[in-house]
Amino acid sequence: MPDTILERCEAAGLRMTGQRRTVARVLEAASDHPDVEELHRRAADEDARISLATVYRTVKLFEDAGIVEKVDFGDGRARYEDAEREHHDHLIDLATGKVIEFVDEEIEALQRKVAERLGYELKGHRMELYGRPLRRAPSKKTDPGG
Ligand SMILES: [Zn+2]
Repeated sequence: MPDTILERCEAAGLRMTGQRRTVARVLEAASDHPDVEELHRRAADEDARISLATVYRTVKLFEDAGIVEKVDFGDGRARYEDAEREHHDHLIDLATGKVIEFVDEEIEALQRKVAERLGYELKGHRMELYGRPLRRAPSKKTDPGG
């Protein structure tokens, strides 16, 4: 199990003030992909004095230390997630903005193959799919007859 965000901040030698701890806790608790404004709302629930600028600077600090990762779902907003979360890709529902996380072994293998063909060992990738819901339900068994 990876260390908590707070533990990794301390291990990275970041000076952890009370407000930075609050931001670390909020990020640790997030299972979605909050942007800075959303992180600020959550942090303000714990500490009403925390400013948007502080949250912004703190997240940037964590990002520079490789503790959180910035993700961009094409709407111009920087969102964040724990960099130690298990690898996954994202499908963004263009109708609702909902984000679905998935892993597809065929895609993973194909990307390794492409990198190798170009003379590289694949060390990571980032992929966002954008889609609109189909009218029919997905992966329903096809009717064999008439
Ligand atoms: Zn994610």
